Amino acid sequence: DLVPIRRALISVSDKTGLKDLAAMLAANGVALISTGGTARALRDMGHEVRDVSDLTGSPEMMDGRVKTLHPAVHGGLLALRDHPDHVAAMKAHGIDAIDLLVVNLYPFEATVASGAVGADCIENIDIGGPAMIRAAAKNHAHVVVLTDPEDYPALRDEIAAHDGATGLAFRRRAAMDAFGRTASYDAAVASWMADRLEDAAPRNRIAGGTRVSTLRYGENPHQRAALYRSSQGGVVGADLIQGKELSYNNVADADAALALAAEFRDGPPACVIVKHANPCGVAQADTLTEAYGRAFDCDRTSAFGGIVAVNRPLDADTARAMAGIFTEVVIAPDADDAARAVFAERKNLRLMLTGALPDPRRPALAMRQVSGGWLVQDADTAALDPAALRIVSRTQPTEAQMADLLFAWTVAKHVKSNAIVYARDAATVGIGAGQMSRVDSTRIAARKAADMAEALGLSASPAEGSVVASDAFFPFPDGLLAAAGAGARAVIQPGGSVRDAEVIAVADEAGIAMVFTGQRHFRH
Ligand code: 5GP
Repeated sequence: DLVPIRRALISVSDKTGLKDLAAMLAANGVALISTGGTARALRDMGHEVRDVSDLTGSPEMMDGRVKTLHPAVHGGLLALRDHPDHVAAMKAHGIDAIDLLVVNLYPFEATVASGAVGADCIENIDIGGPAMIRAAAKNHAHVVVLTDPEDYPALRDEIAAHDGATGLAFRRRAAMDAFGRTASYDAAVASWMADRLEDAAPRNRIAGGTRVSTLRYGENPHQRAALYRSSQGGVVGADLIQGKELSYNNVADADAALALAAEFRDGPPACVIVKHANPCGVAQADTLTEAYGRAFDCDRTSAFGGIVAVNRPLDADTARAMAGIFTEVVIAPDADDAARAVFAERKNLRLMLTGALPDPRRPALAMRQVSGGWLVQDADTAALDPAALRIVSRTQPTEAQMADLLFAWTVAKHVKSNAIVYARDAATVGIGAGQMSRVDSTRIAARKAADMAEALGLSASPAEGSVVASDAFFPFPDGLLAAAGAGARAVIQPGGSVRDAEVIAVADEAGIAMVFTGQRHFRH
């Protein structure tokens, strides 16, 4: 299965490593064929090169859109060398075999990342490159294909070991990488197009993207991890202004915090503190400093080492408050110079700036890997429909309670199920997350509120007179009874349980106002 390399076609946008590669091929007596820019570069290095246009008998045309799309190229890549008909066709049409293809594609991803728009991006969609890569990869029985300068040294070692030839195992691996590259390239194009179609999430988007960096490790130190970018904006598009390298968990938690802060994009100053993907304190207030203070007060213990997101540019006062305790990451649309100066004193604190906050209503796909494949769903970008709200209790919520109910509901959407959120005056006072039974989440949230009272030296639990949100219906009255016992005076939940009547009766009995949203927000 050893195939000697006699002729190579090189067509590379990124000329990194070309010098060493060409020298190595020349030393092995390989004949070189190249497209315009690559041929010029090779000649400048002193190599003899045949132009593709000479091979095809057709000039490169239409700004390079058509350069290599020709039977002389594709026949040379695709022909089975041991198939009599293929050999006859090569002979009849004067086609010579190409044994090595080195292509790296027009820099589409880099062009989009640089902020280019429209025609610039379109022109950077490579057509002939992927066609050749796929042809060579398909025919890996006879052809080697390389798409990344990082792989040149491996080819050097391979042919050094086999006297100028490559083995089938090497070519197979190269083909696999090559198909991976064209798949991620087209995924990047599809993502970019999807981003431009404001109202549509792509139906067939695959898990493509561009690697931004490798991370020190994954959720735990024994797991490898990397960060990929699929589009502009969001947590991956944020600038890391200062602080240690981001960890896997930092990115995941910053994403969770940013998504909830973005829900409050158009409202008053808001602050979200996240730990292990769940908010442990959320508040809106007249100033950002106050919002941070109130979010912090909800659960001072959990806020230690937290990930903090805000919906406004950071000022110095807020920065000082955040820097006062151990904070892992602060993520914000922007920060003024004074705030940056405050953070600069905390070398380890990671400050991420996103520019404008993402639109929380914008359709997107959410993906999650399961063994053997992926689960793909529409991201939960649903807004509460005011027309669908139904007050089902005898007691009516006050206007202030209604505002707090909607606030708590928004937070609950971002808490892992089963989610229970107590709130008052636009701040959380107890959050129960991720429990297997709703009544447990209710009890945990109430206990958190009691802890808050103790930490702040309050005379009563802040759950007294609070409102409570539940991300899904109460399957039994027990959860509601627990919430009532903790002092909640109004409840918001989807409704829809077969026991709704029982639950409503308990609310009426306790004089609690209850609102149904008609929509569930499970989050797993
Ligand atoms: P060069 O710098 O050699 O002029 O161009 C190299 C680039 O052209 C490579 O990125 C390669 O993928 C791309 N390329 C090769 N053939 C074609 C073609 O027929 N059409 C288009 N659009 N790009 C091509």
